[in-house]
Amino acid sequence: MNLASRINSIKPSATLAITSKANALKAEGRDIIGFGAGEPDFDTPDHIKKAAIKAINDGFTKYTPVGGIEELKDAIIAKLKRDNNLTYKRSETVVSCGAKHTLYNLAQVLFQEGDEVIVPSPYWVSYTDIIILSGAKPVIVKTSVSAGFKMTPNQLENAITTRTKAVILNSPSNPTGATYTREELAALAEVIVRKGILVITDDVYEKIIYDGFPFSTIASVSEEVKGLAVVVNGVSKAYAMTGWRIGYAAGPEQIISAVAKLQSQNTSNPTSIAQKAAVEALNGPQDSVSDMAREFEKRRDIIVAALNAIPGVSCFKPQGAFYVFPDFSGVFGRSCKGKPISTSTDLATYLLDEANVAVVPGIEFGHDAFIRLSYASSMKLIQTGVERIREAVKNLS
Ligand code: PMP
Ligand code: GLU
Repeated sequence: MNLASRINSIKPSATLAITSKANALKAEGRDIIGFGAGEPDFDTPDHIKKAAIKAINDGFTKYTPVGGIEELKDAIIAKLKRDNNLTYKRSETVVSCGAKHTLYNLAQVLFQEGDEVIVPSPYWVSYTDIIILSGAKPVIVKTSVSAGFKMTPNQLENAITTRTKAVILNSPSNPTGATYTREELAALAEVIVRKGILVITDDVYEKIIYDGFPFSTIASVSEEVKGLAVVVNGVSKAYAMTGWRIGYAAGPEQIISAVAKLQSQNTSNPTSIAQKAAVEALNGPQDSVSDMAREFEKRRDIIVAALNAIPGVSCFKPQGAFYVFPDFSGVFGRSCKGKPISTSTDLATYLLDEANVAVVPGIEFGHDAFIRLSYASSMKLIQTGVERIREAVKNLS
């Protein structure tokens, strides 16, 4: 069977693949500790679940407007005003089936063959494949630990060509947790406005932020950059609602209405009852959001310290999200049963086979010296899992 070349040009999501492999091994009885899954281990708060149950009982179970119900658009508009000081109209917001779907839709309506899209690395695994599916070319701008895993205005400017359509920013970042300050965003915005490119800002980890770091989105830096920006956000991470599949975009009306047109020919509306739950998430009490963030912060402190205590390992301290991205190159070159560990994939395979620990190889995020661990799991599992990694590293010869 010949599949379309489009599907052969991408690979499956590594984060999802590793999570499902770890789950399959667990189902076979293996005692696997999973650091793969990038989703909160908390339950969706009760008041949000109740809103969905009420929607079912009220018979709110039919098609809705393709781009989302007005009540949810209004909740998104209020959220963007309250949290980000951004003003949008209903016609400038669209709701999709998760932020991944939002990003996919944006790529489909904005990018095509011949376009270049700038992606700072380490990047979330899906950006590059979403861009490739649109026919455009991802242009990777490599950042380093010494620069706090952040792209400088100079790097951005040097990557821009006549073909550049957009840049994708993600702060706090998956996988590094690096978070841009407002000043850093203003400096990037200056280049974006001067060069007249678009910016897609993926703010899904906005609420998971530490040490009192004030979150800023680039769209709020100036009116000029707002006109070139599409804000992407969702309820998955902030409200532990990964399975509900609600994400959204806010930006120029022309882009937003194109997304709604595309959606009218593929998914139609996002699930009606999940939309009602998202209204409650955004409009209801926000205590659980900061409670979860404080718990993640404690776990971050534990995992960063434990990883840095392993000889040969160096771990950047994230300011947000729930991932660590430690550098393991100090253990590369050593071997297990004569098999050398020289890449992040070798290391991830070794850790899964010999230590029963699932991690994502850094190469999937564009950096082969690193691995990604999600600390969205209990303190006990984090401690036991990192202890297993320490032992496994010690056993390398
Ligand atoms: N952006 C980033 C950086 C992510 O880590 C995720 C998590 N899957 C998403 C977008 C998509 O989230 P969702 O589709 O669950 O809203
Ligand atoms: N964003 C999460 C991760 O990076 C969830 C899985 C996915 O959609 O990639 O692990």
